[in-house]
Amino acid sequence: MELEGKVAVVTGASRGMGEAIALKLSSLGSKVAVNYVAIEASNKSDADNVVETIISLGGEAMPVEADVRDAGTVQAMMQRVVDKWGKIDILVNNAGINRDTLLLRMTDSAWDDVINTNLRGAYLCTKFALRPMVREHCGRIISISSVAGIVGNVGQSNYAASKGGLIAFTKSVAREVGSRNITVNAVAPGFIVTDMTDKLSPERKESILAMIPLQRFGQPQDVAELVAFLASDRASYITGQVITIDGGIFT
Ligand code: NAP
Repeated sequence: MELEGKVAVVTGASRGMGEAIALKLSSLGSKVAVNYVAIEASNKSDADNVVETIISLGGEAMPVEADVRDAGTVQAMMQRVVDKWGKIDILVNNAGINRDTLLLRMTDSAWDDVINTNLRGAYLCTKFALRPMVREHCGRIISISSVAGIVGNVGQSNYAASKGGLIAFTKSVAREVGSRNITVNAVAPGFIVTDMTDKLSPERKESILAMIPLQRFGQPQDVAELVAFLASDRASYITGQVITIDGGIFT
C-alpha cells in the first residue's frame, strides 16, 4: 500500500487506460477522483461503475465531472477534490482523443478537437492541480503521451503534435516546479488494447503486431504499472522524463 494516504485525480478514467490507472492507484491505497466528461449519459454510468468497483474492493473514490477542455469545470473539479480530501498528490493527465486523417483532408475541427483535448486539457488540469501540490510541497504529475509524439505517424499529424507538445510541456513544467518537490513525467505508450485502438482494421492491427518485438499488444494494466511506479516514492528522483512503453516497437 505504498500510496496510502495519497489523493489522485485521473482524467478520462471512465474506461480504457484511465480506468486501469484509477484501479491500480486505488489498489496501492490512494484515494482516486475518477474524472469523466458528461457528453453522453453512458459516460457518467461508466465512471460510476469504476467508482463502485474501487469501493467494493475496499478503496475510496468519487466520480468528478469535467470537460478537460474547459477551464471553469477543470478548476471546479480540482476544488471539489481539495474540499473533500484536503489535497491533491497525484495528477494523471490521461484524457485523450484521436481524429485520424491525412493532413490534406484534415478539417479545422479535427485539428482543434485533438489539440484542445490532449494538450490544452493537460495544461488546464496541471495548472489547477499545481496550486494544492505547491502548498503541500510535494506532487506527481504524469501525462499520457504517445510514441506518435516522438516519431510521428501517418494520418496522425494532429494527434502527434498534441502528444509531442505534451512532452515539451512536461519537460518545461518539470523545470519550473522541481524546487517544490513536484515531479513531472510523461509516459509514451505504443499500441494498447482499448476502444481507441479497437477502431483499427484487422489488417492494420496485424501489420503493427508484426513490428512488436514482444509479439503482443500492450494491455491498459501494463501502462498502469508504470504510472503507479512514477507516482510512488520509488520514483522521487525522476522528473522531466518520457518513458516509452511499447513492447520494443521503436527501439
Ligand atoms: P479511450 O479508451 O478512448 O479513453 C479515452 C478517455 O478520455 C475516455 O475516458 C474519455 O471519456 C476521456 N475523454 C475524452 N475527451 C475528454 C474530455 N474532453 N474531458 C474529459 N475526459 C475526456 O482511450 P485510451 O486508449 O484509454 O487512451 C487514454 C490515453 O492514452 C489517451 O490520452 C490516448 O491518447 C493515450 N494513448 C493511447 C494509446 C493506445 O494505444 N490506446 C497509445 C498511446 C497513447 P468518455 O468515456 O467520456 O469519452
